[in-house]
Amino acid sequence: MLENRRFLLKRRPEGEPVPADFDLVSEPVPEAPAGGFVVRNYFASLDPAQRGWMDDVPSYMPPIALGDAVRATTVGRVHTSDNADFKPGDWVMGLNALEDYSPVMPGGFTSAIDVSLVDSPSRFLSAMGAVGLTAYFGLLEVAKPQEGETLLVSGAAGAVGSVVGQIGKIKGCRTIGIAGGQDKCRKLTERYGYDVAIDYKGKDVDTLAEEIRAAAPDGVNMIFENVGGDVMDAELMNLAKHARIVLCGLISEYNAPEKLGVRNLWQVLAQEATIHGYLISAYVDRFAEGGAQMAEWMAAGKVVMDEDIQEGLENAYPAFMRLFSGANTGKLVLKIAE
Ligand code: NDP
Repeated sequence: MLENRRFLLKRRPEGEPVPADFDLVSEPVPEAPAGGFVVRNYFASLDPAQRGWMDDVPSYMPPIALGDAVRATTVGRVHTSDNADFKPGDWVMGLNALEDYSPVMPGGFTSAIDVSLVDSPSRFLSAMGAVGLTAYFGLLEVAKPQEGETLLVSGAAGAVGSVVGQIGKIKGCRTIGIAGGQDKCRKLTERYGYDVAIDYKGKDVDTLAEEIRAAAPDGVNMIFENVGGDVMDAELMNLAKHARIVLCGLISEYNAPEKLGVRNLWQVLAQEATIHGYLISAYVDRFAEGGAQMAEWMAAGKVVMDEDIQEGLENAYPAFMRLFSGANTGKLVLKIAE
């Protein structure tokens, strides 16, 4: 008999999640809801945002309820269906959960996908999915880069950051990436085309600020912020006049029991800069347009996106934690089924 393994949120993490916050259970495969279908999940996206969804605080989405499977974007195939538009075997993506089978009511984020366009369906969770498009729309529509400008990116070796830097180069910018460790910094310049790579590990705010200043003596015109905390404080000391800051993520704070906040905010007014809080969900109706451009750039070899595929629902916890140790090398994806 088929089983449905589900990775549940048992209690809300305090600070860094621990294994006891979760439970892996086995349940019967659900029935297709009236007008909907059941998807057999093959790949699930592991994202920093999931950590935020585990907290019971006001956000752009309700928290994951205790006892529910951890919410995740997945790609998979329709298993059973009560909807003529989604037939068994069709490939789909949507906001589901870390589980073998998810009941789905079409609408919202659920869409059919054409896996013949890609070498692996997981691409719809990376370059062709919301993560690649987070880089695309955040840089092009929010930062609006101009040729010759300087773009500073934190979390630059990660899924979003690596693509931001490459699109920045396509648009004729000088790109500076900040990442953790020598290996990632080498990758920034050798694989993702960054002009300058800065390793933030083990450096205080002043030292990091000096290194950014050495790389951009006239200041940076754009910051694509993925990290926050000390890294952002160092960046803020290097703003050019009227700089634009895309506030995309603050991963250094997601597991912090006490949010310290950014201390150099006064630089924003001193340089008449703009901070724009940015969510990719604002661009869902333009995904087809962005996806087509990403596919073209990838086919032309102008954009690469690495995937870090971890195997098995039973490994969901250690796989998820790779995001916070920095062990992930590229878009972190959990493979649930062959
Ligand atoms: P990544 O692939 O970048 O993985 C996370 C990386 O963050 C790690 O590899 C690590 O890189 C770095 N990191 C982890 N902890 C810390 C820390 N304490 N201090 C500094 N760096 C740290 O993840 P994504 O590309 O998926 O996400 C990047 C950011 O984009 C996140 O903040 C995420 O929340 C945000 N995001 C926002 C969206 C939006 O709509 N606004 C949509 C999607 C993502 P290193 O080894 O270099 O430290």
